[in-house]
Amino acid sequence: MDMNKRETSITGKVSGKSNQGKVYLVGAGPGDPGLITIRGREILEKAEVIIYDYLAGKKLLKHVPPDAEFIYAGKRGGVKHTHTQTEINEMLVERAKSGKRVVRLKGGDPFIFGRGGEELEEVVKAGLNYEAVPGVTSASAAATFAGVPITHRKFTASVAFITGHEDPTKQKSNIDWEKISTGVGTLVFYMGIKNLSSITANLIKNGRDPKTPVAVVRWASMPHQRSVVGTLDNIAEIVKKEGIKPPALTIVGEVVTLRDTINWYEKRPLFGKRILITRTREQASELVARLEELGAECLEYATIAIQPPDSWEIFDKALVDLGHYQWILFTSIHAIHAFFGRLYEKNLDARALSGCRIAAVGTVTAECLEKYGIKADLLPEKFTGEGLAAALENVGIKGTDILLPRALKAREVLPEQLEAAGAGVTVAPVYQNVIPEGYDRKLRAELVENGIDMVTFTSSSTVNNFIHMLGVADDEAARLLAGVKIAAIGPITGKTVAEHGLIVDVQPETYTIAAMADAILDYDWS
Ligand code: SAH
Repeated sequence: MDMNKRETSITGKVSGKSNQGKVYLVGAGPGDPGLITIRGREILEKAEVIIYDYLAGKKLLKHVPPDAEFIYAGKRGGVKHTHTQTEINEMLVERAKSGKRVVRLKGGDPFIFGRGGEELEEVVKAGLNYEAVPGVTSASAAATFAGVPITHRKFTASVAFITGHEDPTKQKSNIDWEKISTGVGTLVFYMGIKNLSSITANLIKNGRDPKTPVAVVRWASMPHQRSVVGTLDNIAEIVKKEGIKPPALTIVGEVVTLRDTINWYEKRPLFGKRILITRTREQASELVARLEELGAECLEYATIAIQPPDSWEIFDKALVDLGHYQWILFTSIHAIHAFFGRLYEKNLDARALSGCRIAAVGTVTAECLEKYGIKADLLPEKFTGEGLAAALENVGIKGTDILLPRALKAREVLPEQLEAAGAGVTVAPVYQNVIPEGYDRKLRAELVENGIDMVTFTSSSTVNNFIHMLGVADDEAARLLAGVKIAAIGPITGKTVAEHGLIVDVQPETYTIAAMADAILDYDWS
């Protein structure tokens, strides 16, 4: 990341004060976390303070360093504001003055109905450094994700973004209704759901054809997006009947008819399906990425968490005299992080390993070791415990002392094989796998209140741990999961599902994530 380099030039341009913090006004985009700009994400990754709004995608907060100060600024139409605008301005200025990199993250584009201008005026008044990053505004997202090109050569050459917050019946309006009603092709109203009937009535009154097509899009770009279509003279009624609530945008204009042809987003095969993904630690989000691309809304739940061991006794004893070991073996990245974490806690560093040779079980662990300044001396051909044992036997380990920092519970083949080959092995627990606690109520609420269409399992332990996480007995779990489809990656996982009294609906022929995603795609939901 060349942020520092770029920043120097921008800081120089704006005010040239280097001894103070800086305010970054960043557009988060409309909700889909993939729609923030690259620059915006770079800034989030270096934030020291982050002040975010209701509509600034929560999922983006994962880019912010966990030790940053997180401030929720609230602001939600109709709901009591968490902080007033003045308080927000004050927080921005005060934090930046104390030398912090303060990120103000706002939904959509900060300068489009986002009060970004007002906040920056305060920042400028305070003489602070600042930078502004635009975002995809929700009008643009709503149009794209509802299949409505906001302009089109055949239909219109102009578009207007208008606030619908202002009651059109009020005496002195900032909006020239007479001119916009007929003078602009496409009209997009932000914040206009509450006033929709008076907005449409006003447009008709001022000469717009009552049969002009209108689309209303809620939660644009999100998996739970909803949209309805009508005409100026009936859309308010449709919105009311369909229960469409804010946040939603209203798009008025002939371009709305093109939706019949290019409504791609809502036509994706799994659109509208909510799938609960039980994850193991190792699994990257491949399944989620595939299902989301097919349109599903995925809720991820890790069924395994890493914790320190109950006792550090064995490891601490080994640490006192690390030089005594000819070999230290690393079989997982968790072991590496835990090993060095404890080493540093004891005021030691990588030099403590100088007398030992180091083996890694595979390329991922070897790369992880490099981050701690260690190059592995040995990497087996086969990246398994057995492979590592064979490689060590090849170099000759008879009579050597070997340290194996690892999980509290793990397969015993590696230490057994090494001992059989004449080595002395110290197995030192440095972490343990536990079932995450405290999700029971949330999970049950998700199943009962919000509704889940499918749960996926990719190993027997995901099944067992998930049932455990629900915090209820098997028969109650079966009741909660009635109507929820179950996907299992293969027969062993499927058998575990059945053992809990549940029925498998989807099981791929081959036991891979790709095949599982395909099988879910092919599933007949009817
Ligand atoms: N700065 C924001 C707009 C903030 S005003 C932007 O550029 O998008 C808040 C209004 O924006 C909401 O009332 C709603 O009309 C609209 N809005 C924001 N996000 C939206 C979304 N994902 N889907 C539909 N409308 C949205």
